[in-house]
Amino acid sequence: MSDKPVRVRFAPSPTGGLHIGGVRTALYNYLLAKQLGGKMLLRIEDTDQARFVEGAEEYIIEALSWVGITIDEGVGVGGPHAPYRQSERKTIYMDYAMQLINSGKAYYAFDTSEELDAMRQTLESQGSAFQYNAATRTKLNNSLTLSEMQTKAKIEEGVPYVIRFKVPSKEEIRFKDIIRDWVLVHSSTVDDKVLMKSDGMPTYHLAHAVDDHLMEISHVIRGEEWLPSAPLHVLLYRAFGWEESMPQFAHLPLLLKPEGNGKLSKRDADSGGFPIFPLSWTTTDGTKAIGFREEGYLKEALINFLAFLGWNPGTEQEMFSMDELITAFSLEKINKSGAKFDIHKAKWYNQQYLKLSLDEELAKTYLPDYELDTAKKLTHLFKERVTFPQEIAQESERLLTTPTTYDEAIVASKWNIDAKNGITAFQHILPNIENFVADEIKHALHDELEKLGIKMGKMMQMLRIAIMGTGTGPDLMLSMEIMGKEEVNLRLEKALAELPNL
Ligand code: GLU
Repeated sequence: MSDKPVRVRFAPSPTGGLHIGGVRTALYNYLLAKQLGGKMLLRIEDTDQARFVEGAEEYIIEALSWVGITIDEGVGVGGPHAPYRQSERKTIYMDYAMQLINSGKAYYAFDTSEELDAMRQTLESQGSAFQYNAATRTKLNNSLTLSEMQTKAKIEEGVPYVIRFKVPSKEEIRFKDIIRDWVLVHSSTVDDKVLMKSDGMPTYHLAHAVDDHLMEISHVIRGEEWLPSAPLHVLLYRAFGWEESMPQFAHLPLLLKPEGNGKLSKRDADSGGFPIFPLSWTTTDGTKAIGFREEGYLKEALINFLAFLGWNPGTEQEMFSMDELITAFSLEKINKSGAKFDIHKAKWYNQQYLKLSLDEELAKTYLPDYELDTAKKLTHLFKERVTFPQEIAQESERLLTTPTTYDEAIVASKWNIDAKNGITAFQHILPNIENFVADEIKHALHDELEKLGIKMGKMMQMLRIAIMGTGTGPDLMLSMEIMGKEEVNLRLEKALAELPNL
């Protein structure tokens, strides 16, 4: 194990909106870097030109910045190992591929797809599966079977070729994954992967290994889907003579469907009615997928939720700020098994963080059209009753709209002479309540009802119906304070006129 300075990287491919699992990968990288005083890099892996999507890189940068994952080095920031966009590093990869060619650890392959198909069919008819490897490479169209002259001639003629890694035939590959412990694989199970494609671009395998080495990456923290390729990567490090300084690996558990069977997909998100992207994303065909941000998730809630998908601190504490996560996080506490994507938990976190948010900030963001003092009161009234902050605006609007109907069931059971007298009396004393705030309103109402010998409990629900139209809702006294005396007066008058005669 090396004791290199901690340098981690998030290395997404700009192939579309960043899947929420990618944000978790970025988060775990970030937490480790911050905890150990290291650096967080952003590298854009855009060597697959067929899958490149315009706008995806900007989206990734915006998503990371929204959740508060800051990048120390990389695309958008710069740094000593620039460029950090792989398409701008093409010549570097070619140099390294040539280094392997020259040392006999890689070779040119000219096979056409027809030739490869023919080989596949022959092998399949004999009952074996085709792999380009030690057993087949000697029978295929490559620089191992052609003479040096023939190879050179083909390249000069412009015959398309790829560069393949010559996997050593009898080597043990043993590496320690921080989450999965020791992994032991024999090189005979690894095939001769393409390192450079015929378009002159490297494959992921070559490009990321070269970059992780050159960028002095200390830990490769990435999704479990890369675990099967890790043995090949170890062989590549070995072939370059970099095994001593190889990064440590940590392959993160999969995100599973909410029911727990199988990998979480976009379709699960659509059918479950929850987002799968941090920010809204519009695909090239114009379909818009709503993001966590636009759905009303607070970034603190999303981060806390994602941190717990595959990791837990081993204590009862569930609420963690980013700083607390940085302190508590450890790769060793990440689970091997997949993490169920339980959106209810995300909603629960959102409610918790909403309660903790400052009234003033929420008010300014979500109720910009209200006078600040009123907006703060509305926020205070609703923030503990909703899941998403935009519901504060919806509820506020409802509160400030004079009701046009009255809950019939409640009217049928509670509308009686006491209620009517109580409401009438309350309306009469409204002008006397000078300071129209919740406490004063309550006292005035209480005193008046006492004089009349009407129990407050007997008429409170009908008072709510008269004011709001419905039997449930936020604190009635505070609601009246926010509406103001005039509106309360209007509503009482309207209710007395419209409720059935007794
Ligand atoms: N470009 C790869 C991806 O998007 C990166 C994997 C890695 O972190 O090595 O999955």
